[in-house]
Amino acid sequence: MLRIVPYPHPALRYESRPVVQIDDRLRATVREMFDLMYASNGIGLAANQVGVPLRFFVLNLTADAAQPDEERVFINPEIVKRHSSEENEEGCLSFPGLYGKVRRARKIKVRSYDLAGSEVELDADDLLGRAIQHETDHLDGKLFIDYLGPIARTSANAKVKEIEAGYRKAQAEGIYPSDEEIRRQLDEMARSAAVV
Ligand code: ZN
Repeated sequence: MLRIVPYPHPALRYESRPVVQIDDRLRATVREMFDLMYASNGIGLAANQVGVPLRFFVLNLTADAAQPDEERVFINPEIVKRHSSEENEEGCLSFPGLYGKVRRARKIKVRSYDLAGSEVELDADDLLGRAIQHETDHLDGKLFIDYLGPIARTSANAKVKEIEAGYRKAQAEGIYPSDEEIRRQLDEMARSAAVV
C-alpha cells in the first residue's frame, strides 16, 4: 500500500512531526518500510519517503532481508554531537540512479527511541554515521542534492530532471494526486495523532 515516492513529491520537502505514540500502526508501517527498502536494495528509508509525515526512519546497512538482526529503527532522532567532517558518495531511494559526493560529520552522537519506546544513545561513524545523517535530514525535508557543489549539481541536473519527469508522468496517470492535494493530505496526517 505504501510506495517509495520520487523527487519532487511534496512529502520529501515536508518537515515531519514527532511520533507521539508507538503502536501497532507504527509497527506495521515500519515493517512495510523495511520490505520496500529491501525490494529497492536500499540501506535506509525515512517515513516521509513513503508519504508519512512523522519523524522516524529505518536502517539496515546490510540491505539484506535475511539479516533482520541488523535492522534498526530510529524514532524522533536527534543528532546531539558532530565531529569533524569527510566527503563520500551517497545515493537515495527517492533519486533512483543518482549518486553524488556529500560532506558530512565524520562522527556523530544520536539520541532516539526504539520500537520498544526506550531511549537509545549511539555513537556512529563511517557508513552508519552517514546514513543516520542522511535519514535525519529527510525528516527535516532536506535532501542530499542540497549539498552538492555547483559542478556536481550541474552534472546531476539531467538525472534529476529525468526523475522529476517520471514523477510528473505518474502524477498525470493518476498514481499521485496533485501536489496541492498531497500537501493537504500531509497536513491532515501530521495534525492527526491517529496516523500512528
Ligand atoms: Zn534518501
